[in-house]
Amino acid sequence: MEGSTAATSSRSSHGESELFCGCGIKSPLRVSKSEQNWGRRFYGCVNYKTKLYCGFFVWEDTLIGSKGTESIDLQPSHAELQRTISDLQRINSELQRTNAELQRTNAELQRTNSESQSTNYQFCKQVDEMERRIEGLKFNNKELQEQNKMLKLTISRRNGFFCHLPIMVGILCVVYYLYQVQKNVKCLSLP
Ligand SMILES: [Zn+2]
Repeated sequence: MEGSTAATSSRSSHGESELFCGCGIKSPLRVSKSEQNWGRRFYGCVNYKTKLYCGFFVWEDTLIGSKGTESIDLQPSHAELQRTISDLQRINSELQRTNAELQRTNAELQRTNSESQSTNYQFCKQVDEMERRIEGLKFNNKELQEQNKMLKLTISRRNGFFCHLPIMVGILCVVYYLYQVQKNVKCLSLP
């Protein structure tokens, strides 16, 4: 008979398996002395061969087998964890590289920014100076326009004078002639 597993198991303070049969009694570890299973260790109800026997019986190596399965089950998760760790390390180194690149780009941008700020400042200064010059030129232009107007006026006056000059000369000639004529008349009239 392969035995019943109607039992509860727990772990003692020493880490050993403690099995309790259906009677609620701790099953001691025993060694088989039967021909088929000589030396094979087992747990069984202490009430074996009595009326109180609950039917609990289990070979120790079947329990070891289940323990082995547990430890085998742990193997993949361990390998998986190592794979995860190496993945994370790879990602971490990649992130560090990206971070270094970003820091370099940031430093470059800061330099470009400060350069453009100084260029911008100079440009603003030049614009201010140009605006000031434009204001000055506008003022000069107004003055020149005034002067131009005055000169045009003067020129037109002079032109007028030179236009009337021959007439005036003519009038003066006539007056002089008449004066001379009058003088001659006076000379002739003298006795
Ligand atoms: Zn029992």
